[in-house]
Amino acid sequence: LLNIHRLLPGQMIKDVVALKLPLASKEGFIRQVLGWREFVRHVHQATDGFRNHFPSADIPGNAGYNKWVQPTWKASRNASGLNGGATPSFLGAMNPLPSAFWGTASGLHCLDHVIGQVWEHGYSHHITRLMILANIATLLDVSPRELTDWFWVAYVDAFDWVVEPNVLAMGTFGTGPFMTTKPYISGAAYINRMSDFCTGCAFNPKTNCPITNLYWAFLDRHKKQLQANPRLVLPLRNLKKRGPATIRKDHQIFTMVRHEFEKPAILTPEHLLHTK
Ligand code: SF4
Repeated sequence: LLNIHRLLPGQMIKDVVALKLPLASKEGFIRQVLGWREFVRHVHQATDGFRNHFPSADIPGNAGYNKWVQPTWKASRNASGLNGGATPSFLGAMNPLPSAFWGTASGLHCLDHVIGQVWEHGYSHHITRLMILANIATLLDVSPRELTDWFWVAYVDAFDWVVEPNVLAMGTFGTGPFMTTKPYISGAAYINRMSDFCTGCAFNPKTNCPITNLYWAFLDRHKKQLQANPRLVLPLRNLKKRGPATIRKDHQIFTMVRHEFEKPAILTPEHLLHTK
């Protein structure tokens, strides 16, 4: 409702300030609206959707629709000449979006559940947008622009100043340190702690969830670009402790997952047994 201006942020903040609530509750809410939402809108306006700082696509992308759904998406240059949006990719992520985002089962229960919810309602909570959708796409080195285009199609509350900064910058770290301080990525332990998805999954977050391998493989692939980041000192130190054999397996699982998603096939624990 905020994004479509049925509720105005200034009025909402005044109403919350006037409520009899614990200070911490008010602070948490107001920080989201004033500290993040208005900051995001400012960045979008000041950078023309990052077009002032990064190259842009000539025409709007189709986020894999032509490949996975069809019939052909007739993208064309916008009448106002706004082109296909900025295409930053700080980490060089260029992979296509997996078919799972268009409704094909992936075998990862968290991903399949959230995608199903999005296609049913055109909406999901912002935590699932970050922790599941953007996280998994980032771990798979999906092009930030392609994921952003998908959000445009899939969400009823997709507006330029909401989608572009939240996906290109916060969700995928496509803009690097331009707007956010680190990639928003996690393995299965975090997803398990913050949700109840794992109870319905064929994988176990403590023993064989491939998202954890994807997380470590991501850190290892991009460690040169990330090693100067003070917020990643601890994860990169822990990466070293995994040892070469385990890291090699992380990379093999990353390659296997990408390969299976490209078929597309449903991931099962048996796939991991065949990854040496
Ligand atoms: S076990 Fe892994 S794939 Fe399954 S729901 Fe949990 S985090 Fe997702």
